[in-house]
Amino acid sequence: MSALMLMSKILDGIDTAPPCAGRMRLFFSHHPVDIAEAKTVCRGCPVADACRADAVAHRAPEGVWGGALFQCGVPVAARVPVGRPRKAVAP
Ligand code: SF4
Repeated sequence: MSALMLMSKILDGIDTAPPCAGRMRLFFSHHPVDIAEAKTVCRGCPVADACRADAVAHRAPEGVWGGALFQCGVPVAARVPVGRPRKAVAP
């Protein structure tokens, strides 16, 4: 399920826009400061518990959902950089 479809499902049935509306760049940022701010925004959201539960159920691939950071479909404490690790620099 895409992030957009997941968000649409979460917002079904609520009348007002959630605090993340129009701020998708913040919620899908890879920068730790942005991630922390997105988590703070979620704390004031009335659908935070449902949002996080749906993100877990649908294995949200990326972003902050319900105050939790997701990467590769699971909640993580901190974002792990993707890709091949850097080669060790010779001393
Ligand atoms: S919990 Fe966060 S990501 Fe989910 S709808 Fe609310 S503000 Fe948006």
